[in-house]
Amino acid sequence: MLPKDEVIQGYSRYISRASHVTYAPIVPYKARNALVWDVEGREYIDFLSDAAVQNVGHNNPRVVEAVKKTAERLLHFTFIYGFPAEPYLLARKLSELAPVENAKVAFGLSGSDANDGAIKFARAYTGRRSVIGYLRSYYGSTYGAMSVTGLDFEVRSKVGQLSDVHFIPYPNCYRCPFGKEPGKCRMECLEYLKEKFEGEVHAEGVALLLAEPIQGDAGMVVPPEGYFRKLKRLLDEHGILLGVDEVQSGLGRTGRWFAIEHFGVEPDIITLAKPLGGGLPISAIVGRGEIMDSLPPLGHAFTLSGNPVASAAALAVIEEIEEKNLLQRAEKLGKKAKERLERMKKRHELIGDVRGLGLMLGVDLVKDRETKERAYDEAKKVVWRAYELGLIVAFLQGNVLRIQPPLTIEEELLEEGLDKLEEAIEDVEEGRVSDEVLEKVQGW
Ligand code: PMP
Repeated sequence: MLPKDEVIQGYSRYISRASHVTYAPIVPYKARNALVWDVEGREYIDFLSDAAVQNVGHNNPRVVEAVKKTAERLLHFTFIYGFPAEPYLLARKLSELAPVENAKVAFGLSGSDANDGAIKFARAYTGRRSVIGYLRSYYGSTYGAMSVTGLDFEVRSKVGQLSDVHFIPYPNCYRCPFGKEPGKCRMECLEYLKEKFEGEVHAEGVALLLAEPIQGDAGMVVPPEGYFRKLKRLLDEHGILLGVDEVQSGLGRTGRWFAIEHFGVEPDIITLAKPLGGGLPISAIVGRGEIMDSLPPLGHAFTLSGNPVASAAALAVIEEIEEKNLLQRAEKLGKKAKERLERMKKRHELIGDVRGLGLMLGVDLVKDRETKERAYDEAKKVVWRAYELGLIVAFLQGNVLRIQPPLTIEEELLEEGLDKLEEAIEDVEEGRVSDEVLEKVQGW
């Protein structure tokens, strides 16, 4: 086992800063379900599920077994030169689960490439060029996904981007971009898109609107009832495809297989990654068959996509969700956790909003509940103090705590993690965490 300091220093010397961000100096050694142990034997409760990867828990025994068995037999077989069975079984399963008619699947290795693919398939199928993304969205780091991402304009200004991309505001009822109150609006966010179509955006030139059904990295933003149904109607009027990015919200996280199912809408394309392989790199684009056949052979293919081991892991993840009833569990534990966070909100002024569905929860930290000014420094301190207390948690948009434990987390551990979180919040409110911490936590 390498010493912790050597590894951390090795990162700054040998790993590009472009592919890493620091929240807490944890050097993981092993993990099981919702627990992680570092190289010094310290134990942590993982409230991030490793960035929403471990829906069925770290090192899930069923997944590990599937990986071992498949790896011993067939580590890889490139499906350009043959027909390994595992990607077929996985594609068939995903097609059955997805709320998409006559679905077909294309595989990749990351959420980013899946979203790139969604853009390519939509452009090929419709013969149109434009794509609409949301402000504050995150779709990934490859060129296409980055180009529609509504966050990182700094990177794009350095490296350029796809052309014909438009951005619209997400329906965020806590921080309404139009200054409206929930329930007292005309869904100005949707009106905005309609007006765009009457003005600067030629609707008949738009191939795809790519939406997270719940915005993840934007800070767990849940759209209001009716938004997606009205949006889909508008898109249909103009022949625009609806792509939903379920990379973070999919596979049980919100209490449904796909978060879009909460909103009663059938999308044209769904992208999946993160939890799909239980930690192994695999992504999938699940779309209507005619859309998915609109590119020629090798129009969206990677040598390692459809890898049998990663596909077997994904099948095990799905089996685990089915057999352990993890959709119901996510809903039940999510409700409990949310109620507890709501009670915390009553005790702590720092908490401005608690939101989310299932075990995809966000706690919006504010300096002032009236102005909703984001509490950036306080969020850094909470995350650091939580780390000291043995809890892995992070923030999004600089101030929204991300609460996404594995769907398999034991109830007592969930409570214990929430105790630690409350203690961290209290320590920050009481001024017990020093400003020195601000230098240590980078985050984003
Ligand atoms: N879409 C969403 C909604 C995400 O949250 C992420 C990762 N944060 C991505 C896409 C990109 O996935 P990946 O990092 O696997 O490329």
